[in-house]
Amino acid sequence: MSYRAPLKDMLFNIEHLARIDQIAQIPGFEDAGLETAQAVLEECAKLNQDVISPLNWEGDKNPSFHNGRGVTTTPGFKEAYLQYAQGGWQGLQHPVDFGGQGLPKTIGAACGEMLNSANMAFALCPLLTDGAIEALITAGSDELKAIYLEKLISGQWTGTMNLTEPQAGSDLAAVRTRAEPQPDGTFKIFGTKIYITYGEHDLAENIVHLVLARVQGAPEGVKGISLFVVPKFLVKADGSLGDRNDVHCVSIEHKMGIKASPTAVLQFGDGTAAGIADSNGPGAVGYLVGQENRGLEYMFIMMNAARYAVGVQGIAIAERAYQKAVQYARDRVQSRPVDGSLPAAGPIIHHPDVRRMLMTMRAYTEGCRAMATTAAAAYDASHHHPDAEVRKQNEAFYEFMVPLVKGFSTEMSLDVTSLGVQVHGGMGFIEETGAAQYYRDAKILTIYEGTTAIQANDLVGRKTARDGGQTAKALAAQVANTENELTASGHADALAVAKRMKAAREAFVDVVDFVAGNTKAHPNDVYAGSVPYLMLAGNLMAGWQMGRALLVALTPAAQAQDGAFMAAKVSTARFYADHILSKAPGIRDSIVEGAGSVTAMALDAF
Ligand SMILES: Cc1cc2nc3c(=O)[nH]c(=O)nc-3n(C[C@H](O)[C@H](O)[C@H](O)COP(=O)(O)OP(=O)(O)OC[C@H]3O[C@@H](n4cnc5c(N)ncnc54)[C@H](O)[C@@H]3O)c2cc1C
Repeated sequence: MSYRAPLKDMLFNIEHLARIDQIAQIPGFEDAGLETAQAVLEECAKLNQDVISPLNWEGDKNPSFHNGRGVTTTPGFKEAYLQYAQGGWQGLQHPVDFGGQGLPKTIGAACGEMLNSANMAFALCPLLTDGAIEALITAGSDELKAIYLEKLISGQWTGTMNLTEPQAGSDLAAVRTRAEPQPDGTFKIFGTKIYITYGEHDLAENIVHLVLARVQGAPEGVKGISLFVVPKFLVKADGSLGDRNDVHCVSIEHKMGIKASPTAVLQFGDGTAAGIADSNGPGAVGYLVGQENRGLEYMFIMMNAARYAVGVQGIAIAERAYQKAVQYARDRVQSRPVDGSLPAAGPIIHHPDVRRMLMTMRAYTEGCRAMATTAAAAYDASHHHPDAEVRKQNEAFYEFMVPLVKGFSTEMSLDVTSLGVQVHGGMGFIEETGAAQYYRDAKILTIYEGTTAIQANDLVGRKTARDGGQTAKALAAQVANTENELTASGHADALAVAKRMKAAREAFVDVVDFVAGNTKAHPNDVYAGSVPYLMLAGNLMAGWQMGRALLVALTPAAQAQDGAFMAAKVSTARFYADHILSKAPGIRDSIVEGAGSVTAMALDAF
């Protein structure tokens, strides 16, 4: 099915919720106003709709494969990647100094959504490259930046993140890959990394692996992990490619979804075993990024960017599933409507339950998009605003939002893509329809870049308990302000939304108190409810943004601009409040009153 980028909704959020006019006042972003956003988004939509989206289904049928030496990607991917790179899309948000376009994340995130809606398996390659760029900008030496950044930002080379090992998944303290210091200041890396996205492929001439490893003699646990750059091909002094490095793809995984994205097992320092002679002798040549033993700290910066981006993947796949379901619901004729509005059987979109499913899909997607766009604006201000206090406040907001954007948007994408299958009835279960692919593709989103539980641990530990719930409560106060504005408007829909928002906010504050008050003394009780807390917080933050959107949509100026769009926004915001935000008090009860029953059963009774 063809994909149409939801440009109106994206631009509405960028204009009214992210306030691009304010972002454009930040030094460096002067040219990034609404007009720029619109021009960039329209151009981006063309590439994704016309070139990248048609390859999505193809990638599911003809995934990447390992041909013994390397990996061959889906037919058409190489040409599409070239177009993507030549169009400058990889550099959209990256610094102008290294050839990027230096645009705000507020615009970049919308482009990221389009790319992922068009083709999630394809989009993973640029997503991981973004992570590598971020790590090098944050912690790389001037020399490393000079060698790698321009090539990564232009898309000429791609990047990967190498964290996971067979015994080290969620728990990175268990990383065993070792780095041996060499007399010339480089390191030799030995070990096995698994599940490495785009760890091997044929889209670009070099792959720059960012690898977590332990320098010999480093302390145990997370304090002894360092970060290294390990290029597939070594880079000569003049920037051209030299010898093949001793890092090799042993195999790629057969997966439930995102089949076109090669997920590699990478062997560092065992080229001989892989049957490949390396002129540099055994061991993959690696270059230390930043300081020794601070690798996990750097990786966290990179992971924050990647976690946000994975949240956007959730929104993207939900949007695609929604569009497909609407199209099917308009076409499929089955049963006479219960209200007798048609003389005979009609399209299933007339049935209230099908409407409920479509509204749920739409409301979740729009709510999460609104939440993510607002978080992106906070990121831009936190990095670039001239006032240190403004930067600090925005950083606290963004940091709080990252686990919610990641955790809530990806969990909701499973519900939405599942409803997408359901709207199709039996046809949804048949692969040729395509709805099932979105459902299968979406499942990885709650797993990689830290499972939902790991996001929830972050929300509980670092984002809530650490400051005694202060940031969370400051956000609740902002939600209360929106409630007041909704109430003051006197509009029936606004009043109804304000009522649900108040109940959800109070439930959230109760849980924040519970978390802040019990994490030390009763950790099991708190962590038993950590994922429900994340879902409640994400629900409230997305619902809050829908409330803000409703306020805009009710204004005469907005109605005059696009009456039909604003009417739909009002309906969607009202639905969100009635059917999604209304779940919050129940979630509160299970967290605060139900913790005991989560861990009550004896382990051997399972
Ligand atoms: C397709 C794909 C692509 C990937 N791409 C990459 C990549 O590019 N680079 C990379 O380094 N890795 C990558 N990964 C690895 C991915 O990040 C891990 O699979 C993920 O972090 C989970 O680790 P695990 O698989 O070992 O699961 P485990 O850590 O074994 O988790 C199993 C279950 O236990 C739960 N659990 C574990 N610890 C805790 C805890 N402390 N609290 C609560 N619950 C917990 C988890 O939530 C989960 O439900 C990829 C994985 C896949 C499948």
